[in-house]
Amino acid sequence: MTTSTDSTDPTDRTDPAVRYAARAVHLSRVHGAGDTTVRALDDVTIGFPRGRFTAVMGPSGSGKSTLLHCLAGLDDITEGAVHLGGTELGSLTDRQLTRLRRDRIGFVFQAFNLLPTMTALDNIVLPASLAGRKPDLDWLDKVVTAVDLGQRLGHRPGELSGGQQQRVAVARALVGRPEIVMADEPTGNLDSRSGAEVLALLRDAVDELGQTVLMVTHDPVAAGYADGVVFLADGRIADHMEAPTPDRVLDRMKAFDRVAAGAGAGAGARGE
Ligand code: ADP
Ligand code: MG
Repeated sequence: MTTSTDSTDPTDRTDPAVRYAARAVHLSRVHGAGDTTVRALDDVTIGFPRGRFTAVMGPSGSGKSTLLHCLAGLDDITEGAVHLGGTELGSLTDRQLTRLRRDRIGFVFQAFNLLPTMTALDNIVLPASLAGRKPDLDWLDKVVTAVDLGQRLGHRPGELSGGQQQRVAVARALVGRPEIVMADEPTGNLDSRSGAEVLALLRDAVDELGQTVLMVTHDPVAAGYADGVVFLADGRIADHMEAPTPDRVLDRMKAFDRVAAGAGAGAGARGE
């Protein structure tokens, strides 16, 4: 298979550190010990190409958040390796890892996590200034233009809609010009119209600003904004899809449900 989300393509001679903003190689993550172990990720090899919007889809519990956390060095890995560009995360000290997350990754979560007493603009620039970075004013201008908040940049989060607040959170993730933006269910708390505003902004971040976006979602409509979709099931890469549409993604997810239902019946018959 030669989809561009497949980092195992043997015909591709490009240096993977150049081609992929982030990648996992034979990555496994096992939680717990003894009888209660959960293999949240099971031998996952995947690359997220630079300059693309990739969605990771899968049912609840399939390992999506664990994958994102492992790629960001927020969760320990059990086997395998994770690379951010040319950096293997396992080679870093905790301190270096903290700095890498701060300087090279932009995060967007389901909860907007904005500071309520500060304006939208201050929320956008604060992390960079706390990190002691002088903002690149041209870039800041581009980001703020893309966020399209107009006069509301001077408003506090409580005076903004959910969609506007999450757009502020996306701008905050973009402002340091990270190598990759990682978003975990960024539309999970939003109605469909607000969600569409946020997804359009993530799309613009790739198309207009040349950023790389990795988004975890269980929503086929959200996945439809991506260039490619990676499907996870039971901690394994189950499929890839290029140029997804919500309908095609939904159909693919339904097929997983049928397989899962079949597997459940089989397990029951074996008395497990
Ligand atoms: P998703 O984001 O796709 O819903 P997760 O990555 O959160 O899935 O979880 C994958 C699996 O790992 C699930 O079975 C979940 O219960 C388990 N899991 C996740 N985090 C932990 C943890 N800290 N301790 C034990 N099990 C966990
Ligand atoms: Mg999750």
